[in-house]
Amino acid sequence: MGTPTPTHHSVRCYHCDHPFDVGARAASTNCPGCNQRVVVEDVVIKKLMPVSRVQTCGRLVIEKKGTVIAEVVQAQGGVEVMGSLDARVESGGPVVIGASARWKGDCRAPTMAIRRGARIEGEFEVLDPGP
Ligand SMILES: [Zn+2]
Repeated sequence: MGTPTPTHHSVRCYHCDHPFDVGARAASTNCPGCNQRVVVEDVVIKKLMPVSRVQTCGRLVIEKKGTVIAEVVQAQGGVEVMGSLDARVESGGPVVIGASARWKGDCRAPTMAIRRGARIEGEFEVLDPGP
């Protein structure tokens, strides 16, 4: 039993920081603030992903066999890593680093949970989530 799936949720544009609502099933949309295309679905990585940037208003999830090698990761909903990640991360939500995960790169996030056994290299800045 889980909580019922909401039909809409609010996100914040990673280009211009404009807040807006999207349908729960939307994968991407145009931001009403800057009119640029924004990805709003969760990004799930199951294999090697060498990209220059990962940007989503949802979450970035890196599964056990997944690897992300990027310059920048922006995930407004948070980041969960069970595999490996090499990037500078700006997260708008909680960052969870699993026990078998490898993390390399600086990270900024409102909250962070690191499981025992995770291997981490980088500077971590945990922001005060505020009121
Ligand atoms: Zn925007």
